Amino acid sequence: MQISQDRLDQLLQQIRPCTRNGRLASYIPELNKADPDTLGICIIDMDGNMVSSGDYETRFTIQSISKVITLIYALESYGDRLFTRIGVEQTADSFNSIIKLETRNDGKPLNPLINAGAIATTSFIVESEGREGIKNLSALLKALAKNPELKINEIVLNSEKRTGDTNRALAYFQHGQKIFDASVEDVLDAYFTMCSYEVQVKDLANIARIIANNGTDPETGEILFSSKTAKMTKTIMTTCGMYDSSGEFALSVGIPSKSGVGGGILSVVPGKYGIGTLGPALDEKGNSAAGVPLLQRLSEDYDLSIFS
Ligand code: GLN
Repeated sequence: MQISQDRLDQLLQQIRPCTRNGRLASYIPELNKADPDTLGICIIDMDGNMVSSGDYETRFTIQSISKVITLIYALESYGDRLFTRIGVEQTADSFNSIIKLETRNDGKPLNPLINAGAIATTSFIVESEGREGIKNLSALLKALAKNPELKINEIVLNSEKRTGDTNRALAYFQHGQKIFDASVEDVLDAYFTMCSYEVQVKDLANIARIIANNGTDPETGEILFSSKTAKMTKTIMTTCGMYDSSGEFALSVGIPSKSGVGGGILSVVPGKYGIGTLGPALDEKGNSAAGVPLLQRLSEDYDLSIFS
């Protein structure tokens, strides 16, 4: 069934009050300046039909959603070797928790979509490619978003670098445990840079649409990554993409997704849609307080769960 503009506008109006159930991220001070009432969505189908509603033009930093790009790049470049350094299991802890690094999995982070795991994934790339690594990751982000104009928000980047001691702790701990050899500051530089790219929901929808089409751009036929990488990415997004509410999200929404503390969510409806949503007010797990119920209603109304 086609998702109509009218229906989407209606849905957005109904869900908008949920923005009041969340709070802006404040641990990166610059993120606390967003408008908490913002709610926007963009959906693109495989034929390129696009519907957008609400504050779809608002720009925001991609944050943890960049972990999907880093994962795709690492899987394409290093394949299963990645899993010598990182696991693929869910955590029941917050996205920047350190506790399991010491108590589980031989010091290896549990999965690539939490901070510790994304830092380890980035370390793989930086170790092999040095400064070129950031360039290559940025190029992949722009290619998947079909937007060569994407820019880093330097103010957010500096804000995060200044206050990123928890991420520093995660990186130094792993370096100390010999999970990686690369310079901690180089790895964090690449990690923070990728988190600070500014996007709109349309960019997220474009990226999601290519994942939904198993790595091939449906417009041009260009293969951006393999279907094996797409399958692994969708799987890890389903099990780990919404941090410690990934299980609940799988039950209520059932769409492989990845959230970020900027309020964005990238959602992949395999073979059908790429979806980007924005709602910077976050729930207690760090997921968009209005974005999640918006996706739940969409999933219910259009039967989008991959499990149905
Ligand atoms: N840049 C953020 C951080 O490292 C990303 C976290 C997130 O979006 N959940 O803390």
